Amino acid sequence: MTDAILVVNAGSSSIKIELFAADDALASLLAGQVEAIGLAPRLFLRDAAGTTVADQAWPQGEGPRDHRAALAAIGAAVARAAADRRIVAIGHRVVHGGAARAAPVVIDPAVRAELAALTPLAPLHQPHNLAGIDAMAELHPGVMQVACFDTAFHRGHPWVADTFALPRAFHARGIRRYGFHGLSYAYVAMRLRDVAPEIADGRVVVAHLGNGASMCALRGGRSIDSTMGFTALDGLPMGTRSGQIDPGVLLHLIAAEGYDAAALTRLLYHESGLKGLSGLSSDMRALEAAGTAEAAEAIAYFVYRIRRELGALAAVLGGLDALVFTAGIGENSPRIRAAVCDGMDWLGIALDAAANARGAMAISAPESRVRVLRLATDEERMIAIETLRLLRG
Ligand code: AMP
Repeated sequence: MTDAILVVNAGSSSIKIELFAADDALASLLAGQVEAIGLAPRLFLRDAAGTTVADQAWPQGEGPRDHRAALAAIGAAVARAAADRRIVAIGHRVVHGGAARAAPVVIDPAVRAELAALTPLAPLHQPHNLAGIDAMAELHPGVMQVACFDTAFHRGHPWVADTFALPRAFHARGIRRYGFHGLSYAYVAMRLRDVAPEIADGRVVVAHLGNGASMCALRGGRSIDSTMGFTALDGLPMGTRSGQIDPGVLLHLIAAEGYDAAALTRLLYHESGLKGLSGLSSDMRALEAAGTAEAAEAIAYFVYRIRRELGALAAVLGGLDALVFTAGIGENSPRIRAAVCDGMDWLGIALDAAANARGAMAISAPESRVRVLRLATDEERMIAIETLRLLRG
């Protein structure tokens, strides 16, 4: 039996899982997920060669009904497919670590209670993360569990970046900017040290453009500001989330149109962003293929807000040495990368159109003062790295 680390990323409608060999190389052994939990669930697992080792779909209304059942199902599938591995630690993606947690932590009953107390700050995500922790404690009793936070990487922000101009007592109550996607940014910052060490300590903006989207300003490999704030709603428009919005709009909807918290949550989290603007889809691929005026306008708004934040974060950094695109859209859409960089020569950005079109890692032109890169993010690997570090004490 050889040792392995299991990584669990329990999101709102899907659970991703990945098994890594517990040594320095952290080779990926198995990866899979359960999708459409509570609807028509599907579970699949693939091994390192990409061969499907488990694939199960249930009709509507059958199969695992909730996260707990889905976690038990995929946990059992992993145990069957990796019978020759001993799971020695389990790392979890946890969306919120609060203001204090700047690093991953081994979960004990006190930490479990601390994370549960943060649920009001992330009601759509934290309960699923906790369900993942509880399910794994049941499946693998006594095995070390580690919480890795989406907020932790941003804990070094200066006060002005993390504060709202509300009466001071609100900040003390936790009403402040936390920033998210921290595991992705930590991974990209680490990768930069390998692939472009000459800029890894410079002034870097990372654009994590996926179904969730945000941007982060890095100096010396550390986050100094991010477009996401108190929740993962702020900043860029996303698949179904609005991004930045004048709070006066919300006051108006409450006072004049009868919206309550549930209706606002539905609107801002599930009906807005690319989906709301296009009236078609939250999926960038579908919008790029659609060719309708509304889809084009949704894409234009997405690009406009990225460019606006790029200017703002460059100002925060006092200049720019590198721009990095990552996540589903950032890694895979030459069109979006080109549109973001178009006419940005004033900032020192010149894209190499051919390198961008073929999806090279280095996509800036030789004369570009700012390096532009396309890097694949890997939040699961980042969790495995942190979990291994804590396992070794
Ligand atoms: P993520 O949340 O990081 O998995 O990213 C999901 C987003 O990436 C969705 O909007 C996808 O449509 C988008 N995406 C994935 N592949 C492509 C592609 N080849 N071109 C454009 N968008 C893509």
